[in-house]
Amino acid sequence: MDRTVAAWMSAGLLAYVAYPLLGGGGTVAGAALWDVLAAATLVAVLAGIRRNRPEPRLAWYLFAASVLFRMAGDISYDIDLHVLHRDPFPSLADVFYLVSCPPLIIGSIMLARGRLLRDLAGRLDAAIIATGLGLVWWVFVIGPVAADESIAPLERLVGAAYPAFDLVLLAIVARLLTRSGRASASLLLITAGTGAMLISDVAFQLVSVYAPALDGSVSAGWMVGNVLYGAAALHRSAGAAAPPARPVDPRLGRGRLVLLAACTLLVPALLFIEGATGSGEISWPAIGTGAVLLFLLVLARMSGFVTQIQRQAGQLEDLALRDALTGLPNRRVFEERLGAAVAAGSPQVAVLDLNGFKDVNDRLGHGVGDRLLEVVAGRLLGALRDGDVVARMGGDEFAVLVPGGSAAVMDRIVRRIGTALREPITLDGQDLLVGASIGTADGAGTTDGFEVLRRADVAMYAAKQAGERHRRYLPDLDVQAAEEARIGAELRAALDEGRFRLVYQPVVSLPDHRMVAVEALVRWEHPVRGTLAPAEFLPVAERSGLIVELGDWILRTACAEAAGWLRTLGAGAPGRLHVNVSDRQLADPGFPALVAATLAETRLPADHLTLEVTETALIHGGEAVRALDDLRALGVPVALDDFGTGHSSLGLLQSVPVDVIKVDRSFVASITRAGRHAVIATALLQVSDGLGMAAVAEGVETAEQAAELHRIGYRFAQGNLFGEPVAQPRFDGAGVTTGTGAATVS
Ligand code: C2E
Ligand code: MG
Ligand code: MG
Repeated sequence: MDRTVAAWMSAGLLAYVAYPLLGGGGTVAGAALWDVLAAATLVAVLAGIRRNRPEPRLAWYLFAASVLFRMAGDISYDIDLHVLHRDPFPSLADVFYLVSCPPLIIGSIMLARGRLLRDLAGRLDAAIIATGLGLVWWVFVIGPVAADESIAPLERLVGAAYPAFDLVLLAIVARLLTRSGRASASLLLITAGTGAMLISDVAFQLVSVYAPALDGSVSAGWMVGNVLYGAAALHRSAGAAAPPARPVDPRLGRGRLVLLAACTLLVPALLFIEGATGSGEISWPAIGTGAVLLFLLVLARMSGFVTQIQRQAGQLEDLALRDALTGLPNRRVFEERLGAAVAAGSPQVAVLDLNGFKDVNDRLGHGVGDRLLEVVAGRLLGALRDGDVVARMGGDEFAVLVPGGSAAVMDRIVRRIGTALREPITLDGQDLLVGASIGTADGAGTTDGFEVLRRADVAMYAAKQAGERHRRYLPDLDVQAAEEARIGAELRAALDEGRFRLVYQPVVSLPDHRMVAVEALVRWEHPVRGTLAPAEFLPVAERSGLIVELGDWILRTACAEAAGWLRTLGAGAPGRLHVNVSDRQLADPGFPALVAATLAETRLPADHLTLEVTETALIHGGEAVRALDDLRALGVPVALDDFGTGHSSLGLLQSVPVDVIKVDRSFVASITRAGRHAVIATALLQVSDGLGMAAVAEGVETAEQAAELHRIGYRFAQGNLFGEPVAQPRFDGAGVTTGTGAATVS
């Protein structure tokens, strides 16, 4: 609350305390204080209007007018009482008081209109409360006054006009209190002020009807009303724009329900009271009208409530059947439709999984990922025919159902989907290319919808693994999948039982064939199948994620062994240890830290280790490239393995931080053949030289290849010519001897 409002409220509080101390309205001093406060209220409201420029301006001027008329009434009353020493009824003061009511009412309505949400429920609640309480008011106050034949007609009219106005005020306060959403402080102050006025009016009229002696003691409430009006105008929030409309709270709160029930029960309560007390005369017309009105209002309220519940139930149902993001049917619906289609005939099913979606999510955020899915959903819908179903099965997986179609029809749809997804999707200013792997299957030989879906799933995974766009299910795929599952389980057991071992292959310098490094290569000692090469199990380990644990073991074992060589052989030990890192390992954000910890644990100096990574790990940039930076910051050099076989370009070399490229053995194999075969090997060497990287030629098998490589300019090479991978290479400083002792190349 700001200082002006606080000062005004304190002054008001002071006056409220001083008033009874001065003897109230019966004394000249009390009356004077009262009138001064009334005038001050007028000034405060006008000052507030100037200060805050509240809208609608007219409403606030109406408030000011109401305060003015009230003040005029107060002064006129005090003159009658203290100067002319008389107390007429009705008096000039009553004229002013009555005239002060319409501007207050109209002003309140104008303000409330701009600030309240147009919620029917709130209005009905306000009407129910006002009708219930108003009925009581009518029966006990307005009715008796209006019907009292003993009073002169003018007196009666004025006497009944006050409570009638209060009835209107009651409706306004009820409406302000049943609003939904947040109200500004100013509006709350107005509500409280009008409430205070109303309570004082009611209390005053009740005491003047039922206990005229207490007249003076309730009037201080008007003072409170005045102070609150002044504060409402002065408060900064009077000028602020109406708070943004919030969705109406759809619930019927317990408090509200009790209040509404109480107001409705006022009708029978009145009947009981009137019947049980006094003359036994019952105000049939008033109570009857009130009862009918209340009944209709409650009915309207309840029907609104029921409509709302029905609408929400509908929304809930929709939510259960539809994917919230894309609006497509969800998995549940798809499975139901598939079940029906399988029962009716042999349906065609496609399962589609986006490629690289996780990457989009990671790089560009989930917002972009979500919009990507929406666009894809739209394109899928566009590729289908009437009667086909496309559903989002979760994540980036969609499924298509073609009831009663042929494989050829499905293949056509798959082609259309492929075309639709080939168009780049522009989001956030970026052109995104989304590929998808699609698996298709039909209901041949089964009446189980889940089985058809499973087959399409298997085909989709097979397509994804092979890097293909589309595969149709064949029973063979199940055999492969089972095989893969079996190998996965065996791998797990082999890891636990320590059935892996490492062999080491030398990297030598040319032309002297001195060993400069060894590369660690993993082997699996399979109890039945014998020693298995990495190609037979690494792909499975990679897909199952076991590669992370296996790679961890390889790194630790190799580093420990190399550190041992360093300790025992000193200068005779190979200068470096090369360890292969799979794409999956490099993508793990904790990988550089793991390398640092392993080096510390095995006490292998960082520059004695070189990590070999593949092009495919790096083509998406981002995380993996950051990992390379971190590794090099540790002092660990990085080699790009099998260079030239991936689908990346030479441009990759410019953007990724590597120290060594290992030229794939396919370029070495062709090097001594006649024709243009040495061209690529030569070009790769020039590029690596130009970028300041070392080049290692892989897979050198013959002396001619070694000589030719040296002639082109290669200074490092690796291959069976110089030594096959063995468990314990023999290091003799000058040349390289394999552990089998078979070949010494020098
Ligand atoms: P790579 O890293 O390019 O390893 C060189 C591969 O070429 C080795 O096959 C090696 O035995 C073979 N090789 C060496 N000299 C010759 C030669 O003169 N002629 C021919 N034809 N081949 C030669 P290996 O051990 O079967 O490994 C195959 C691939 O498996 C490796 O290629 C590497 O990418 C991966 N790999 C091997 N060990 C590991 C490992 O510990 N971790 C990871 N992540 N991958 C590994
Ligand atoms: Mg390698
Ligand atoms: Mg290689």
